[in-house]
Amino acid sequence: MKITAADVIVTCPGRNYVTLKITTEDGLVGWGDATLNGRELAVASYLRDHVCPLLIGRNATRITDTWQYLYRGAYWRRGPVTMTAIAAVDVALWDILGKISGLPVYRLLGGAAREGVTVYGHANGSTIEELLTDVAHYRDQGYRAIRVQAAVPGLDSTYGIGGKSAGHTYEPADGEQPTENVWDTAAYLDFVPKMVAAVRDEFGPTVRLLHDVHHRLSPIEAGQLGKSLEPYRMFWIEDSTPAEDQSAFRTIRQHTTTPLAVGEVFNSVYDCNQLITERLIDYIRTSVSHTGGITHLRDVFALANVYGVRSGSHGAGDLSPVSFASALHLDMAIPNFGIQEYMGHLDPWREVFSVGYTMHDGLMHPGDAPGLGVELDEQAAARYPYQPQYLPVNRLTDGSMWDW
Ligand SMILES: [Mg+2]
Repeated sequence: MKITAADVIVTCPGRNYVTLKITTEDGLVGWGDATLNGRELAVASYLRDHVCPLLIGRNATRITDTWQYLYRGAYWRRGPVTMTAIAAVDVALWDILGKISGLPVYRLLGGAAREGVTVYGHANGSTIEELLTDVAHYRDQGYRAIRVQAAVPGLDSTYGIGGKSAGHTYEPADGEQPTENVWDTAAYLDFVPKMVAAVRDEFGPTVRLLHDVHHRLSPIEAGQLGKSLEPYRMFWIEDSTPAEDQSAFRTIRQHTTTPLAVGEVFNSVYDCNQLITERLIDYIRTSVSHTGGITHLRDVFALANVYGVRSGSHGAGDLSPVSFASALHLDMAIPNFGIQEYMGHLDPWREVFSVGYTMHDGLMHPGDAPGLGVELDEQAAARYPYQPQYLPVNRLTDGSMWDW
């Protein structure tokens, strides 16, 4: 079945999303998410100018061959732009294969290995009291795992303290420039154990608690944080140091038994092979849409399975519903699933995307429609044109640039 068209749709129904639409000679349509938060148009151009022309006439069912063709054939391999573009093609072809076969993608991947996908929600507050109220809100909705973030006293802004489904503050503060935040490591390290202790005290020993450091600590500081949180038995601390330094996790591991998760900015198995094979982390957080699609992320999770590392995929609102659905299909089928982030999407996303995934009692299911179970309304998408938006940047209190 030949591919006859490949089109890129950029739309902003609450947030910018880049979506690839692949059409076959039989009129089947497959969707792939190509969103790279804050650098969206780079991937749109990569697809339109360099990838879409290569797809026309190819057999839509030769997914592995197309993946290899785009990865090896580019010569300039890896990197977020390239791997996000390849992911969009890959996911769209899995969607088409599901529609051809009449099966949901998770059944093509080996079938359900669990009843549903355990997801964690984002609780936050400008004070600990507000955070406790928000944790109760998620618990009452049935969530079995909750990420906890609260504003660090003395700082004007703290990562993770934002709108309910927005999570991140990313609106331009001054024209089209990114918002600038200020970071104080000492204040943070003093505050977080108090915050987690308050949540544990209020909600008891069994709710799974997660926390995202967002790449801000040195390895030894991350070790200190992990050790200080050991009494509260966290499910994980996430992204405790800048993720590109894999050997940093040796130092963290030497100093704490708090489980470690990292990987939302990774693009290939080569970003995390040391982390996995040396068992330096407990959860690998790579996402479908930034790691070369279902085909490559399945390889990452297979390697992780050999070493007892479990999945914990990124699922923030910067991934479109197409990406989130593809994550749920893969989560359903792999043996070493750990947990899945679920942040939801900003209104009016439902005008543009229709989805088949559902949530019940803290578990999500991708649905049983053929393919991914997600469709995009192009006329609705056209009503919400692209808007330039950046993620914030971060500085220390002395003005030094820091990791956001
Ligand atoms: Mg994160």
